[in-house]
Amino acid sequence: MFETLSERLTQVLHRLTGGGVLKPEEVALALKEVRMALLEADVNYKVVRQFIDRVQARSVGAEVSASLSPAQQVVKIVREELVDMLGANQEGLHYAAAGPTTIMLCGLQGAGKTTTAVKLALLTRREGHRPLLAGLDRQRPAAVEQLRVMADAQHIAFVSADVAADRGAEQAVAEAATKGLDVVILDTAGRLHMDGDLLSELGRIAARVSLTETLLVADAMTGQEAVNVGTAFAQAVRLDGIILTKLDGDPRGGAALSLRHATGQSIRFAGVGEKPADLEVFHADRMASRILGMGDVLSLIEKAERSVDPGQARQAERNLRAGHLTFDDFLMQIRQLRGMGPVSGVLDMLPGAAQLKAASAGSDPEAEMRRMEAIILSMTSAERARPELINGSRRRRIASGSGVGVSDVNRVLRAREQMQQMVKQLGLGAGGRRGRMALPGAGGLGRIFGR
Ligand code: GDP
Ligand code: MG
Repeated sequence: MFETLSERLTQVLHRLTGGGVLKPEEVALALKEVRMALLEADVNYKVVRQFIDRVQARSVGAEVSASLSPAQQVVKIVREELVDMLGANQEGLHYAAAGPTTIMLCGLQGAGKTTTAVKLALLTRREGHRPLLAGLDRQRPAAVEQLRVMADAQHIAFVSADVAADRGAEQAVAEAATKGLDVVILDTAGRLHMDGDLLSELGRIAARVSLTETLLVADAMTGQEAVNVGTAFAQAVRLDGIILTKLDGDPRGGAALSLRHATGQSIRFAGVGEKPADLEVFHADRMASRILGMGDVLSLIEKAERSVDPGQARQAERNLRAGHLTFDDFLMQIRQLRGMGPVSGVLDMLPGAAQLKAASAGSDPEAEMRRMEAIILSMTSAERARPELINGSRRRRIASGSGVGVSDVNRVLRAREQMQQMVKQLGLGAGGRRGRMALPGAGGLGRIFGR
């Protein structure tokens, strides 16, 4: 997701960070390119204009900072404005204080409501709740059947009733109470186009049951059309947020970057695949980091925690926060990467992912990872914990131990140093949220593949 934009922005900003003092015309030129990149990513032109104006205004009077160069400040401003453009974070689901949490999903047919209903149910279960899925799409019996099958496969409670959607919703809430379930997810009917019937049905449901959240499910791949749909729904229904689906298939990101401004709603979750586990809490700041090629290490860690040993992942996160990454952490990340399915999906979350993808096109990332793993395994545990110990003779020993050249060992060592460096540079206001988000974890991977 966001590959094209990420690649472009990373290039522009990278050129900028080369020199020391920044000339105003350099900033202007860079912003012109940023503007082009955003427009090409299909971001709404009004949103782009506002974005550029704000970055420009802030860059001209760039706050003097002891720790950042002028160029770094521009990058920082771009990043902050990007976070703003993507929406203030409203992380995760809101649960009702009393009574069942009732979530209504609405949106056009094919947007991904049914799939997302199941994904959300799983998310609530991970958070310790007991979900009930309700199929209210009476227009299409096959749609209700689809939900039933998917619910069964995940062992999630399911209900449907052959009555009008509002009564069906009411019955679902009642059923949840009798079964001791505390989250009800309503999968409503969609239409191919916005129409009055669809909206009035949603209104009737809202009038009959107490909704905790009304979330619009919008398809990122439809680009600006998703924005139009979002605007129409936001005017007609009281929305609490948006779930943007199919971000995995959308290399441009125009919808993601325009929806907040156009609808006044925050994107709350992102669908990133067809499988039930493919739902991410949408974090504006992490997404901005991802777009700017700074990577999204926290999401990566969370993903890893779902698939691998949580204790190890937490330790790696602590080390990262302390600005220190041992080779044990590095090794763990490589192993988790390999255990997490297709490498390319995971790479999106790594710092420098765009360049990495470009550079490794044609080469075999899996083979590279195996090689890095072999190199790290040839280090002693002392060396892994304290990489500064690794001098010339140790390098030769590691190289022969892992069957590679000294230059390969050097690349792995350099990557770790660069990572450490990036941690320092990007750890803006360490401990603060921005600092946290910017921490690049396996950033060195990009460099290893890249060179
Ligand atoms: P509904 O008509 O709104 O209920 O949409 P569905 O849930 O039936 O989804 C329509 C299609 O989109 C199905 O083929 C889903 O597998 C697919 N889909 C839904 N969400 C995602 C996503 O996040 N990524 C991808 N790649 N496909 C998705
Ligand atoms: Mg459906």
